[in-house]
Amino acid sequence: MILLPRPYPDEVIGSVLARGARHLGLSWGRLLWLATGRSGSSAPYLMPFALARLAKATGTDPEYLLERHTLFPYATSFMPLDRRQALKARALRDGELCGVDALGHVVLSRTPYRRVCPHCVAEDLASRGETYWRRSHLLPGAHVCVTHGTPLASSTLPLQHGAGASDALLPSDAKPAHRAPLLDFPLLESIAMHSVRALRRRPVDRNWLERYWVAAFALGYRLRRGAVASAILAADVKRLFGKKFLDSIGAPIDLRKRSPWPTLLVRPQYPTRVAAFKHVLMLTFLEHATEIERLETELYRRPGPKCRDYKRVDAEALARMRRYVGEHGRGGRRLTVRSLVEASGEAPCMKRFPDRFPRSKSFLREFRKSSIAARRVREPGTNGID
Ligand SMILES: [Zn+2]
Repeated sequence: MILLPRPYPDEVIGSVLARGARHLGLSWGRLLWLATGRSGSSAPYLMPFALARLAKATGTDPEYLLERHTLFPYATSFMPLDRRQALKARALRDGELCGVDALGHVVLSRTPYRRVCPHCVAEDLASRGETYWRRSHLLPGAHVCVTHGTPLASSTLPLQHGAGASDALLPSDAKPAHRAPLLDFPLLESIAMHSVRALRRRPVDRNWLERYWVAAFALGYRLRRGAVASAILAADVKRLFGKKFLDSIGAPIDLRKRSPWPTLLVRPQYPTRVAAFKHVLMLTFLEHATEIERLETELYRRPGPKCRDYKRVDAEALARMRRYVGEHGRGGRRLTVRSLVEASGEAPCMKRFPDRFPRSKSFLREFRKSSIAARRVREPGTNGID
């Protein structure tokens, strides 16, 4: 069995392996094979894998590694407790496999490059003589070190794949890459705070959707009928974070869609699974949103039947009647006005609201005078159309 260094606080598993490789003078690939039985460079850096073996090698236990040194607590932070427990059991049972791959992907795909806090690097070098990768710096959308309250530097090191991803590199090796922040500092700070809280929170059963719903209500996102004005809220979430930022972290909001993701978070009666990162954005939004004085409700139609565009309805009814005459009125065959009205597809509506069908009515008037109109005795109650 290989011996690995004991993990530092908040250190990700991949970082423990990288330090181990350095201490032992081994290549990343060789160390990975010896420590986990895995070959190749695609070892999940932040998610649970080979927990039993890694626990032995680091003198810890699998559950401790899972909770303190992977992103598992973050990814499952907003889930119902029983689901979290089931996933945890799976991750611990399938210790040799990455039992929660899909979960890992959701988190990892949102952080393309590793991030570094220059202050943490300096402090680690001074106190430990080496640096390490922290979970809290690699969370999706986390661009602030919550320990130092300063922006994290982006690096050119990919988190998962690509050049350098497979080497035993540590933050002190990272070259800073200057990427302009896509959001103001206070927003980035909130995102980082809520992310770290999600990572470190003791597992609790909390109805998050109900919390958001109540908070949205309190802010004034309230419709007459007591529902949350979720479409307006979604538009405001989009405005606060901006399209660029939302796209960059894989949480775009398409307002033309029936239910863009923020609306799913304020419907406690329809619980859905939403990625942890979107919960973090919702918490950040609720923290920064200003109270609404007057809600613009034009986005919502009034309750009741849908308003129809009668100009179009009339034109379509007319077209259908013309087609009917064209198809059935040949060879001296006579047609009744009633059959025409039926063919319009709007018979009940035309009967009830004749004024909304001026073109159809005038067509029927002309038709009645024509030679193909069947002469019929007028029936009562037909409002003069037949
Ligand atoms: Zn720091």
